[in-house]
Amino acid sequence: MTSNPGSKDFAPMPLDGRVVVVGGGLASARVVSTLRRKKVTGPIDVVTAEAHLPYDRPPLSKDVLTGAKDSTALPFDPVKLDVTVHTGRTATGVDTRAHVLRTDHGDLPYDGLVIATGADPIRLTGDGEQLTLRTIDDALALRSRLVPDARVVIIGASWIGAEVATAAKARGCAVTCVEYAEAPLANALGPDVAGRLLPWWSGIDLRCTTSVREVTEAGVVLADGTVLPADVVVTGIGVRPSIGWLDGAGLPTDRGLLTDEFCRTDAPGVVALGDVAQRWSPRTNRHVAVEHWDDAGGAATTAALALLGDAPAYDPVPYFWSDQFGHKVQYVGSHGPDDTATITTSEAGDLDTVVWTAPDGTLSAWLGVDRPRTLVSARMAVGTSAAEFAAANV
Ligand SMILES: Cc1cc2nc3c(=O)[nH]c(=O)nc-3n(C[C@H](O)[C@H](O)[C@H](O)COP(=O)(O)OP(=O)(O)OC[C@H]3O[C@@H](n4cnc5c(N)ncnc54)[C@H](O)[C@@H]3O)c2cc1C
Repeated sequence: MTSNPGSKDFAPMPLDGRVVVVGGGLASARVVSTLRRKKVTGPIDVVTAEAHLPYDRPPLSKDVLTGAKDSTALPFDPVKLDVTVHTGRTATGVDTRAHVLRTDHGDLPYDGLVIATGADPIRLTGDGEQLTLRTIDDALALRSRLVPDARVVIIGASWIGAEVATAAKARGCAVTCVEYAEAPLANALGPDVAGRLLPWWSGIDLRCTTSVREVTEAGVVLADGTVLPADVVVTGIGVRPSIGWLDGAGLPTDRGLLTDEFCRTDAPGVVALGDVAQRWSPRTNRHVAVEHWDDAGGAATTAALALLGDAPAYDPVPYFWSDQFGHKVQYVGSHGPDDTATITTSEAGDLDTVVWTAPDGTLSAWLGVDRPRTLVSARMAVGTSAAEFAAANV
């Protein structure tokens, strides 16, 4: 869809109106605290399918897997916030005309509904056990299996796959990683950049240009019939926004739930943000599914204020990071297939930065390895002259 679906009948909610928030992640927690800061006095109900209060996900594949942390709880005190949290409760649908959320434990009427249901990991076919990593329970279960000499097969050398490989190797496992592309992250970064990441994978049996047929009790079966025996199989091949429960609600969806730049869906009183949403970007003239931490948290102010009728547009230059093999990788912007990647390396030949230049000469994206101090200027420079940015940041 190329048009902006935001509701034209989005009447502001009164401050004492009833808000229902679906989801127990960063987006949910931030919207709730923003609503209270903005003097919303009405009841707020948070509905989350998980058994936990809202918590953060990036540390799951980092600090939790390595054993540095057991909890990633967000600062969120239901008593202080005067919020009712319904843990273990699943939203099953929404009647946007009647303003009612359907759940597996009954209906909840709303004046304002916030949809922040995140995304679900994609699984492969086969009856063998596949672990995925999305929740704190997933992370603790996986960690308990990352014991010395355990044969761990990771499917997908993705951002998550690389972080799991980092932790599994550090915990003494025998790690194999199967990747469909010619190098880790080649689909995301292009083969030239991705090829520079290969040295990081030393000590891991990395099998690129290899596809998986299925996961069976015998292990991971490759397309050529080879079976990789495994004690633990971790599937890290991406996620899908959690919109299945909205089937029949009549809300426009594409990859995610479509919103305008104010996080407003097509339905009055219903906003969406975080990994579940695909928001209109006036900057790029299309809907974007960012699916990163910075975006999920940053959109909260706009989503909360949209319910009250006075929201600033939210359309930042996207940003995400990944901690893998002892390196911090940071990426800002968004590059396309027609952009040119200029790679710089350290004196030792290690990947240092990548500048992507659009055909019109502007900086479309920047990636830095262990270069946190350049991040802010890179983010500000996206859309301006790539040559000037590169000259100022050698
Ligand atoms: C292991 C891991 C590592 C990551 N590392 C990074 C990183 O390094 N950098 C980065 O930028 N991003 C990272 N991310 C992505 C980042 O964490 C997400 O972008 C962010 O968590 C999205 O927040 P959210 O609130 O939209 O969704 P989520 O945090 O996914 O929360 C969604 C919540 O909704 C609940 N829910 C779903 N469906 C229903 C339903 N029908 N009814 C009730 N509840 C429901 C879920 O149980 C969940 O609690 C990582 C993600 C993971 C999983």
